[in-house]
Amino acid sequence: MLLSSRTPRVAALLAVGASLALVAAAAPAEPLGIGDRLFPHLGNPGYDVTDYDISFTYHGDNGKPLDAVTKIDARATSWLDRINLDFSHGTVRSVTVNGARAHYASKGEDLVVTPAAAVAPGQPLNITVRHTSDPRPGKKEVGWVRTKDGLAMANQADAAHRVFPSNDHPSDKAYFTFRVTAPKGYTAVANGLPVAKTRQGGATKWAYRTAHPMATELAQVSIGRSAVLHQEGPQGLPVRDVVPAKDAKALKPWLKKTPGQISWMEGKVGNYPFENYGLLIAQASTGFELETQTLSLFERDLFKEPAYPKWYVESIMVHELAHQWFGDSVSPRTWSDLWLNEGHATWYESLYAQEKADRPMAKRMRAAYRASDAMRANGGPPAAPKKPTSDGKISIFRPVVYDGSALVLYALRQEIGADAFQRLERTWVSTHRDSTATTADFVRLASQLTGRDLSGFFDAWLYGKKTPPMPGHPDWKSDPVSKH
Ligand SMILES: [Zn+2]
Repeated sequence: MLLSSRTPRVAALLAVGASLALVAAAAPAEPLGIGDRLFPHLGNPGYDVTDYDISFTYHGDNGKPLDAVTKIDARATSWLDRINLDFSHGTVRSVTVNGARAHYASKGEDLVVTPAAAVAPGQPLNITVRHTSDPRPGKKEVGWVRTKDGLAMANQADAAHRVFPSNDHPSDKAYFTFRVTAPKGYTAVANGLPVAKTRQGGATKWAYRTAHPMATELAQVSIGRSAVLHQEGPQGLPVRDVVPAKDAKALKPWLKKTPGQISWMEGKVGNYPFENYGLLIAQASTGFELETQTLSLFERDLFKEPAYPKWYVESIMVHELAHQWFGDSVSPRTWSDLWLNEGHATWYESLYAQEKADRPMAKRMRAAYRASDAMRANGGPPAAPKKPTSDGKISIFRPVVYDGSALVLYALRQEIGADAFQRLERTWVSTHRDSTATTADFVRLASQLTGRDLSGFFDAWLYGKKTPPMPGHPDWKSDPVSKH
């Protein structure tokens, strides 16, 4: 994710320019979580999802609930007398577990399901929920994003369960099939590759499937008056962009940048990790761009705002592209590992600007160093970020996880050298491909590859209240934190 509230972004740009728990049979139905430090109630214990198959019927009005069926294939990892799913924003009509009708109740942000028979550990668990999926209003926490011509999805950090019942935590990745029925004139696109398109009277039904496992927060379904444009990336990679039909021609010069950006990223970290890529350009003011897997979400205005220099817009495109490796293919085990997503995406965003537009990274990093103590005071240290505020779950996306964390990577490169740093980056994305990883995994790999115990270095940089001295730049200073 990259926050983009319009005015602050221009201001910032000008500034840069100048410079487990078991479910007991007798326990009451209650919301459960897996104890994420930042979102303790999200995710659920006792099962591991392997497949989601989600059908939506769109009625041509983004102010009305969609009809939906969510089928979940999972494996029980403990005895389950009750099964908690995360789901908060629709009406549930029926639930079956392993083919038999189940009782259910909504508790907090959970849908608590009581199967007719308890499920044993290791046993397959097939859950079918018939429900609606309500796109209203949802501004603060997101989930469905209402666009001018339909809907898109923005589920980060934990809003997928506002759209469909799920185990809504990035530690439980699964394969997804999306089936969307929409009236004439609309086009539906989702993550992954198309597998079917059928006409049903006046409506069309599309189906897409992911070739790789995906976190719920990275799901994307676009329904709109869209054009779908195809081009080829490196080694024949299908590049598919989804844009408002009326803007297709005007947006093409931007879309043409993607294949070269993919080649550039592959040169840095190795092969692109998924089956396809492309931009979803939506007519909506979300206030951010988002790395939804294989199909990154962008606001149309990013490409239309004359105040943004070309190099800047391209570096934002690279930010979301870099997330396909860092955040999507290798996704965070917990939300406290968010710095690994955003620190790397900011790193490649900044490196691209240096190599392609002569915007030195050292200059940006020196500015980040100056602000670093204040960023830590505001958002906590990079790997122990402060909890979300009342402004919503996306309030964890503070400056410390962006430039404050790219700065950690800069310090690391200064400490171990550019060659070792690049080897670490390449090994990281290949070792943890299609999986989840933690901060401790990153520290361990860096130490292994360099033959040095880097735990002290990382402790100071990732968990310190104050920014440690920058290796090789003893003159860099962090501004004192102003007290209000
Ligand atoms: Zn990001």
